[in-house]
Amino acid sequence: MPSDQIAISEELKSLIELQEIDTVIADLAKQKKRLPEIIEEAKQSLSASQADLSNVKALYDNLLKEKRDKERAIDEEDVKIEKHKSKTSEIKTNEAYQALLHEIEAAKKVKTEQEDALLVVLEKAEEIKKELTAKEQKAKEEEKKFSVEESRIKADFTKVENELNKLLKDRDEHCARIGKDLLKRYTQLFESKNGLVVAAVKNGNCLGCHMNIPPQTLTEVRKNSKIIQCFNCSRILYWKDAS
Ligand SMILES: [Zn+2]
Repeated sequence: MPSDQIAISEELKSLIELQEIDTVIADLAKQKKRLPEIIEEAKQSLSASQADLSNVKALYDNLLKEKRDKERAIDEEDVKIEKHKSKTSEIKTNEAYQALLHEIEAAKKVKTEQEDALLVVLEKAEEIKKELTAKEQKAKEEEKKFSVEESRIKADFTKVENELNKLLKDRDEHCARIGKDLLKRYTQLFESKNGLVVAAVKNGNCLGCHMNIPPQTLTEVRKNSKIIQCFNCSRILYWKDAS
């Protein structure tokens, strides 16, 4: 067998292997691209739990503010009551005295109302505090779970990346064995033919487009010694049964 025929056959073999490598590379690249999405998916439970916690926290903070407001209002009424009481000695008329008593009673009434309201707030705050503690606990658990999951995903990703780097080196070696023009043709076809550039011929058909290959071409393809393109889809053909 002339040496140039062996060379072409080797080239075809390299081309078939290059396509196999490129198929895996495309798949790994797709996986790599999905990493942020996968992490985001894994984070969903934690994000929901954090949002939940944040809502209850806001509710609790609101109640604390309400509590401070009520306490301040009670203090203000206390101050008023003390102020009114201190004036008792200065009172000259019975009328003024009655008016002062009335002021004191009014302040006491407001104070009682605020105290009742404060009790309601305190009760509610106690209830929400329990809920808050439970939500905090839940968020912590989710955080732990996510952290483990994230480490696992990142370890998987490192594996993908290592595999990808190995294949890219492998790819370079294969490319070096293929002629420049043929490699260019392959690269152009890889995009347009959806990754299937080198197609096997089986039962007389191109497995890329399933068209029947003319007998004369078939004879040539069977030799696996030349680069022959399908008349219909332009894919590079090879004979499947030959090793
Ligand atoms: Zn074809």
